[in-house]
Amino acid sequence: MKTELLAPAGDIKCARAALRAGADAIYLGLPAFSARAGAGNFALSEFSETVRLAHLLDAKVYVCLNTLVKESELEAFFESALSAWNLGADALLIQDIFLGKELKRRYPEMVLHLSTQAGCCNVYGAELAKEYGFSRVVLARETPIEDIPAISEIIETEAFVQGALCSSFSGQCYFSSFAGNNSGNRGRCKQPCRKLYSIDRKGFESPAYALSLSDLSVGPRVKELLDAGVTSLKIEGRMRREEYVSAAVHYYRAILAGLKGEIPAWKSALARTYGRGGYTEGLAFGQDNLLSRKVQGHIGERIGTLELKKGKYYCKGIARKGDGFKILRGGEEVGGATCTGEGEGGFYLSSEQKLRAGDEVRITTDTSLAETFRSRSLHLAIWLSLRFVAGEKPQMHCEGYTLTGEEPLQTAERAPLTEDELIRCFQKTDDLPLAPIVEHVETENAFLPKSQLNALRRAFYEGLVAYRTPAREQLAPRTGACTLEPVPSQRTAIIAEDFEGLKADVLILKPRDYARVSPEDVTKGEGEKYLYLPPLLTAADEKLIAPVLPLFDGIFAEGSYGIKLAEKYKKPLFAGAGFNLTNSFAVSNLKAAGAKYFVLSKELSTAEQRKLAAEGAFVLTLGNVKLMDLAYCPFGRTCKSCDRRGEYRLTDEQGRAFPLRRYRLSGKFCRFEVYNCVPLAGYDAGTGALVDASCRSDGAFLLKRAHSPEGALAGATKGHAERSML
Ligand SMILES: [Zn+2]
Repeated sequence: MKTELLAPAGDIKCARAALRAGADAIYLGLPAFSARAGAGNFALSEFSETVRLAHLLDAKVYVCLNTLVKESELEAFFESALSAWNLGADALLIQDIFLGKELKRRYPEMVLHLSTQAGCCNVYGAELAKEYGFSRVVLARETPIEDIPAISEIIETEAFVQGALCSSFSGQCYFSSFAGNNSGNRGRCKQPCRKLYSIDRKGFESPAYALSLSDLSVGPRVKELLDAGVTSLKIEGRMRREEYVSAAVHYYRAILAGLKGEIPAWKSALARTYGRGGYTEGLAFGQDNLLSRKVQGHIGERIGTLELKKGKYYCKGIARKGDGFKILRGGEEVGGATCTGEGEGGFYLSSEQKLRAGDEVRITTDTSLAETFRSRSLHLAIWLSLRFVAGEKPQMHCEGYTLTGEEPLQTAERAPLTEDELIRCFQKTDDLPLAPIVEHVETENAFLPKSQLNALRRAFYEGLVAYRTPAREQLAPRTGACTLEPVPSQRTAIIAEDFEGLKADVLILKPRDYARVSPEDVTKGEGEKYLYLPPLLTAADEKLIAPVLPLFDGIFAEGSYGIKLAEKYKKPLFAGAGFNLTNSFAVSNLKAAGAKYFVLSKELSTAEQRKLAAEGAFVLTLGNVKLMDLAYCPFGRTCKSCDRRGEYRLTDEQGRAFPLRRYRLSGKFCRFEVYNCVPLAGYDAGTGALVDASCRSDGAFLLKRAHSPEGALAGATKGHAERSML
C-alpha cells in the first residue's frame, strides 16, 4: 500500500497549505468533540468546501472526534459523527474504542481510525481495534520501533513523525484535569507539562522544564517506520500556523520522494517555522534529546553568533528586515530580536534586552518562507484530449471522464477552429484548482461560435469535478439502546506495592520492579490477587511478566489491550481507570468483552458514576490519584546514574509537591508516574470502592474507610466528585 503523508489542519488556511504542499490526507476537528478545542476547527460549511477541494486533489479528510464522551452527550456525539460522514469525511478518529464499536454497529459503512488518545501500543490493542471494526490505529508515541511490525500485520498503522510530544502516555494524562480543572481528554489541556518544576534530586533542584519534551522529528528514521509496516506518517500540529504545516509537508514529501538535494532546505524551513527544544527522534527510537529542560517553546534554527559593530548588534548570515530571532546564552533564552537591515555580509538586529557578543542567534520567523510557500500552486495537473471535427459531435476527455457535445459541429465556411484556440480556451478553468495540460487535440474544418465553445468548456469542467468528487451516499440516523442496571456493591479493592497486612475483595500488586515479583509477594494479604499493568505494555514487558502471571488470580490493566491479554492468559480482567469509561456504551461493551471488574473514569462526578454502576463497577474513592504515566526517565539518558530511589517530589512554582514514583518494567530505563499533590477522599458512589495506595503506606487504614471516604484524610480533595470534567 502507498505511504500516506498526513497533515494537520487547524483551520481552512492550514488545510489549503497542507494540500498545496502535497499532503495525501489532512485531519481536522469540527466544533464539537475535537481533542484540540483551542484550534480554529471547522464550521460545517468550511468543512464541506475543504472536503470537496481535498477530494478533487485526490486527498483524504479525516475528522477528529477524539475526546471522551459523557452519557449526556451521546446523542450529540452520534449526530456529529453522522454529519461528518455524510458531508464526506473519509474516516473518523475516535478515542473511546467501545463507542467506536457502537458507531460501527450502527453504521457499518463508516471508516474508523483509533485515535492515539486510545493508547494502542501492542498487538493486543490492535487485535481489539480490528475486532471492533476499526480500519486503522494511530500508534501510541511510546510504541517501540521493534514492536510495530507485529502490530502492522494485524491492522493498518499510522505513526507520528513530527510535532509536539505529550509528556504523559496519551489518553492517560489527568494533570490538567485535576490540577487545572480542564481535561486533556476533552481537548482542553492547559499544558502543565510545559511549566517549571524542581525535583528533590541532586542537580535537579532548581526550577526547570522538567517534564517538557522536545518536538518530535524523525526525518532520518522514516525508512525504518516504513520498513516496520507503517502506512501513514502523521504530522502533529492543529494549533500551529500554515507555514509550519507547509514546511513539514514539503520536508517529508522530499524524504518520501528521495529528493536528497531538497531535504536540507526543507529541514531548515521547518526548524524556522516551529521547533521546540532542537528535536528528538522520540520514544519509538530511544530517549535521545527527549527533554528540553532549559528552553520552552519555539527555538528556531541557529544562524550564528552575535557581534557588536559600531555599537550595533550584528550577525553574519542571511536574514532580511522583519525576520525574528531568539537569543540564547549558555543554552538559556535571554530575549528576542528583530532584523533591522542587511549589510557587510550579514544583518543588524535590535532587541529590547541587553545582549552580549557571543550570544547564540536563532531565527524563529523567516519572512521569506511565507512567500516561498504561497508561490506553490494549489492546482491539480490534468491531461486532456479534445476532438473537434466537422460533422462529428465534439469530444472532451480527461482520465475516465468524457463529455460529448449534443450537436455535431458545423463545417467552417471560413476561419475554422484551430488547435491553438482550443488549447487557450481549455486552459481557463474559472477558479477551479485545476492545471489543465492539453495532451492531445484534433480539429478539422469545424466551426463553433466562441460563446458555445466557452459553454462547452464550463460544462466539461463542472462534469469533471462532479465525476472526481462524487457525493457521499447519505446515511439516515440509526439508533441503538443501551441500558445498564446499577447494582449496589460493598466491595473494596486496593492498589499497593506490598500486600502485607491488607485485606480486601481485590488486592492489586503494583511492583516497584516487575523483574523481582516473587511467589512470596502474593502469599501476603487476603483477597483475590491481581497484577497491575500500566498503559504502556511492550512485547518485552509481556515477556517479563508472563512467567509471574500464573501466581495471580487476575490481571488489572490500564489500557484496553488488557481485554485480549487477559483472554490469552485465561485470567479474569479488572479494567483500570485508564480505560476512561465515561458512558453506558463503553461500560456495556466492556462487560460484553468479559471484564469481571472495572473502574469508572476518575474524571466523572459521583452522580455520573452512579448511573454507570453496573455489576463489577468500582470507583476510585480514596488515596492517590495518578496524573501522568511517563515512559521515560526525567533524569537523563541512562540508568547508569540511577539512584534507585522509589519516590521523588516534583514541585511547581506555587510550591505544590507532586509525588513522582519510579518503577521498572523491561527496557533500559526506569518509568515514572506523577501523582496529584493532594490525596483524594471522594464520596461513596454505591459501587465497589477502589483505594490507591501507590505512594502511601497506610493502605490498611484507608481500606477501612473505603466506603466512607469523606473526611478520612486531612488536606484531601474531592477531585471530580462534585464537579465533572470540563
Ligand atoms: Zn533508572
